[in-house]
Formats: sequence, structure tokens, C-alpha cells
Amino acid sequence: MSAHRPRLVVVGNGMAGARFLEELLRLAPERYELAVFGAEAAGNYNRILLSPVLSGEKQAADIITHPPAWYARHGIALYADDPVIAIDRSARLVTTLGGRSEHYDHLVLATGSRPFLPPIQGLDLPGVQCFRTLADVGAMIEAARSHRRAVVIGGGLLGLEAAHGLIRRGMDVTLIHLCPVLMERQLDAHAASLLQRSLETRGLRLILPAQTQALLGDTRVRAVRLTDGRELPADLVVIAAGIVPETQLARAAGLACERGVIVDDVLLTSDPAISAIGECAQHRKQCYGLVAPLYQQARVCAARLAGDAGARYAGSVVSTKLKVTGIEVFSAGEFNGGEGCQTIVLRDPRRGIYKKLVLREQRLVGAVLYGDIRDGAWYARLMQSGENLQRMRSRLVFGQRYAEAKAEAA
Ligand SMILES: Cc1cc2nc3c(=O)[nH]c(=O)nc-3n(C[C@H](O)[C@H](O)[C@H](O)COP(=O)(O)OP(=O)(O)OC[C@H]3O[C@@H](n4cnc5c(N)ncnc54)[C@H](O)[C@@H]3O)c2cc1C
Repeated sequence: MSAHRPRLVVVGNGMAGARFLEELLRLAPERYELAVFGAEAAGNYNRILLSPVLSGEKQAADIITHPPAWYARHGIALYADDPVIAIDRSARLVTTLGGRSEHYDHLVLATGSRPFLPPIQGLDLPGVQCFRTLADVGAMIEAARSHRRAVVIGGGLLGLEAAHGLIRRGMDVTLIHLCPVLMERQLDAHAASLLQRSLETRGLRLILPAQTQALLGDTRVRAVRLTDGRELPADLVVIAAGIVPETQLARAAGLACERGVIVDDVLLTSDPAISAIGECAQHRKQCYGLVAPLYQQARVCAARLAGDAGARYAGSVVSTKLKVTGIEVFSAGEFNGGEGCQTIVLRDPRRGIYKKLVLREQRLVGAVLYGDIRDGAWYARLMQSGENLQRMRSRLVFGQRYAEAKAEAA
């Protein structure tokens, strides 16, 4: 039977690739002969949980989601540790670094992102590390065993989680950030200053704004030099300065790309035999860097390939939670507001709580929560649904239980 089934090949065995396979197996387990190529070592893991592995709150084994046996059980050919280096679109062939060639009838690109590396000297020194893979985390844990001073470059979600993890591993950590506020893409100035205070009381040294000029050292990194001339001693430097969609393969194959691989509402690229999902994809000018959108994309792409001609992806409203134990931060949507927006703010300094909601035309379009994030998921749902909130507007900031109970009673 398998000889007659169309061959579906997935390139990229990360969170989007694995979620796509799960969805497809649920909807149409027999429809395709499946193969997946991954650049990382065997199986798949929950990348989000690299942060608790670094901090020691989880072990590497705890975050494995799809061991090789899962692929074998579902009849999926898994080629791990062997990146695809070329796509021949006219012959419908992919070729790997290890020299394997595989035919496809349909190809799904799920190649994710790679860390953005700022253009500075010294990136290739031993002791300079990115924070993207299980192998990266292994190297950071190893460095923390025998070295003391770490510098983290980047004050976004990843940089803060890296810094927190290294402090928990006993390192003396300095974090430098280009902007005057932390997590400027997720937090307003007030929430960022609360976060900064909290992190400093936990022993994180912050220097912001600060720009790196070079990484110094001979056989291993020994310092970070800033553009103002300061030198920060470092035995480990973690670069967490952002991500870049991994489009190299797609570009070389001549697929339409801008920042990411351009896809339409059915997640097809400029070649109807190739789909793209996850962080490598660009949909309606937007590339995402969080898992919620890629889960939605994986579902739509799998539904279409399972035969549902009506499956469409219309974009996602994203929300972020910082995974630093004891610090509760949530952010979603247009948290800074702007023209035509109204802002509702609740401040309770004694309990360390700050909540800001942004509404436009009685609809929630943004939220920042600090200190109490229990209602984050509810606010994110309200944003996605675009519900008119006039009837509960005055109670909205007090959370779901209070706002909905009173709305019902009214
Ligand atoms: C430390 C950390 C913490 C995070 N925390 C959160 C969080 O709290 N919340 C959240 O929503 N998101 C979080 N993220 C982001 C989230 O992990 C990503 O959005 C998600 O992993 C993207 O999935 P993806 O499948 O598109 O890419 P990936 O998961 O990166 O998978 C892509 C895979 O493709 C492989 N690949 C690339 N090129 C090739 C090739 N040519 N051939 C074969 N394989 C290839 C890569 O090696 C990789 O294994 C975090 C990320 C990190 C690194």
C-alpha cells in the first residue's frame, strides 16, 4: 500500500514540525508516506523548557516530547542530525549534508530561526554561546561548573531567562541591553522598571543602555568591551540578541522570501508543492517568535493536507510570559496603546501588582500584567475574539471571575 501513497517530507524537526506531524496523524494517519529531517540530534523536545533545564528546575530528559521510538511507532522515517542542504524543486528532491536524497510530493518547511549574532569581533571564541538548542544549554551548564563570571547580551525574554538560569547555577551574572528598558517589545516602562528592580534584588547586575563593541580573549573569552570603553570580565558570554528566521534553504531554492519564507492563508509558499510553518514562515508581513502561532499554523497546514479545502490561517494575537521563578510577567498585543486607544491601569505597590489594559472601540487590544498574571490567558482570548466589552469595561481590570460574575448579575 505504501508504494501508492504520496510522499510528504518535513524539513525541520522542531516544535512546528512535530506539532504538524501530530495533527496530520490525528486527521489522516494513512494518507501519506512520511519522512522528517532534523539538524539536531535524535527526536524532538519542548524548546520553551530549555530555560527551566538551564536553571536546574528540570532535567534534559523531562523535556523530550518525541523520542525516536515515537516516529518508529507511527511509521515516520526520521533522519536526525542530518540537515537538508538543497531542494531541487523541478525534480522534487531534497539532499542532506550526509549525502542522502529523498523525493517528495509535498514538502513542509519548518526550519525555525537561528540566533541573531551582532556584527562584533570575538564571536568565535570558546566560551561564547547562543541559547537556542539543548546542545547550547548543555554547553552553558558545563561552563557554569568550572567558571564564575557570565555576561548575557540582550535584555529580552531569552536573555533574562538565560541570566536567571546562570544565577541559579551559581554564576556571577551581568546582563547588558541596548535599550534603556528591559523587554521593550513586551513591556511598558513602568512594568519594565518593576521587573528591573526585582531582578536586581535577585543578584542580577544590569547595565542598560549599553552596546557591545567586541568580545576579548585569546584561547577563551575573557571580557566584553562596551562602546563606552568599559570592559566587563567574562568566562562565559551568552548572546541573546534576537532571532532571524532560517530561510537559507528556501532562498537558495528560489522560493519567495522577505524576512521569512512568504506563505499565504493556507500556508503555501510561492511553490504549490511546498508549505512553510513556524518561525521560518512570514504570513501577512508577520514572522512570529512564539509557539502559539505555530501551533495554529501546524493545525491549518495539516488540515489542508488531510483534505480540508476550507482550512485557513488568519494570523495570531501573541502573548508572552516570562519564565523566571517568582517573577510574574505577562504581555500581549498593543500594550503601548496609541491613537484611538483608552488605557485602564491598576497599581497596587504594596502587593507589587501592576495591570494595564488597552482598549480600542470597546475591544481589548493589549495587556501588561506584573505580579499577578492569573488572568493573562483570559485577556489573550478576549483579544483574539475581538468581543465588545462595554458591559464589563469598569470591572475588566479586576479579572475574569469578578468581571464575568458581575456582568451576569447585571
Ligand atoms: C530558551 C527559549 C525559551 C523560549 N520560551 C518560549 C516561551 O516561553 N513561550 C513561547 O511561546 N515561545 C518560547 N520560545 C520560542 C519557541 O521555542 C519557538 O517559537 C519555537 O520553538 C519555534 O518552533 P519552530 O519549529 O518554528 O522552530 P524550532 O523549534 O527552532 O525548530 C526548527 C528545527 O529545524 C531544524 N532545522 C533548521 N534548518 C534545517 C535544515 N536545513 N534541515 C533540517 N533541519 C533544520 C533546527 O535545527 C530545529 O531543530 C523559546 C525559545 C527558546 C530558545
